[in-house]
Amino acid sequence: MAEKEWSAVLVAPNKIEMQQFDIPEIGPEEGLLKIEMCAVCGTDPKAYHGKLDWFKLPMILGHEVVGRIAAVGEIAARRWGVKKGDRVVADSSQPCLHCYYCRMGMHRWCENRVGWRVPCDVPPYIWGGYGEYQYLPPGSQIYKISESISSEEAVLINAVIANGIQWVRLAGGASIGDAVLIMGMGAQGMAATIAAKESGASPIIVTGLTGDEPRFELVKRFGADYTINAEKEDVLQVVGDLTDGRLADIVVEVAGSPEVIARTIDLVRVQGTVVCCSIVGSDVRVPLDTDKIAQREIRFQGVFTNDHKAMRAAIKLVESGKYPVGEIISHRFPLHQAEEALQASGGDIPGIKPIRSALVP
Ligand SMILES: [Zn+2]
Ligand SMILES: [Zn+2]
Repeated sequence: MAEKEWSAVLVAPNKIEMQQFDIPEIGPEEGLLKIEMCAVCGTDPKAYHGKLDWFKLPMILGHEVVGRIAAVGEIAARRWGVKKGDRVVADSSQPCLHCYYCRMGMHRWCENRVGWRVPCDVPPYIWGGYGEYQYLPPGSQIYKISESISSEEAVLINAVIANGIQWVRLAGGASIGDAVLIMGMGAQGMAATIAAKESGASPIIVTGLTGDEPRFELVKRFGADYTINAEKEDVLQVVGDLTDGRLADIVVEVAGSPEVIARTIDLVRVQGTVVCCSIVGSDVRVPLDTDKIAQREIRFQGVFTNDHKAMRAAIKLVESGKYPVGEIISHRFPLHQAEEALQASGGDIPGIKPIRSALVP
């Protein structure tokens, strides 16, 4: 009889159930990850509340994962350069390498992608990171990481930090001397600040709300030159004063709020770039001043997850220990409290406002 493991399953909107699954037999091109920690992504509470129509249930959420190789097939071991026991992070989706988008080098839009968003009624079931084990399908992109970094640091590599690098530097084009305005002090705001700092941006300005006040000092340790409380100060006035009236070269929106996304257009300079990072929910429409986008030739850049280059950079950056990255994980929950973790991260529990929560199986 197969060994069993526990995963937290989103069975219906607002309903998580702990379920037992068989630990699958691993074929030559596959692997199995024993999960050390899985972070709660900003989109996870939206999926939990049924706000993302591209999530098909039942599903094991979780794609921000660090763990150890528990089993690996012969071919996979060779391809991935890993053996049983290695500590790794993995890309959240696995491209087929044969479809149109894969062959164009756009692996993240693979037409045959598998991975954590596959519903858990599809064998071998344990596709997501909210569990004790996660299945690694053929085509997985696996990265060995150092034993010397903490779980909290490691779990932030494959999404939060890599996204920051992808969104601010690679997609946003941040470079030496650019005035970068980062709107939002969540985990992605912190990572965006680090990426802006590493890109040589100056000044780096980060906005937060009154409830974020404990984070104002932390974001300065990540490289912010100025912080603005958007509920107490006039953001347009402050950004104007800091940029000789020209406004920000790059505005990075990581607040997750339609109002903030709409506001970015007023805060970016002529021919500047707005990087729109947030997923606000399938039923939400954001009113944008498109006249201003046209007349001021603003580049409005959407971003979603990250590529190999950003992952490699994120691993080096986190392993360098240059920034107190682990402090972004502000709350830890045992796996069986996945529902509480989602509610806390979604702002449903009064008095708790995690920067990032993480589950420990
Ligand atoms: Zn994520
Ligand atoms: Zn493909």
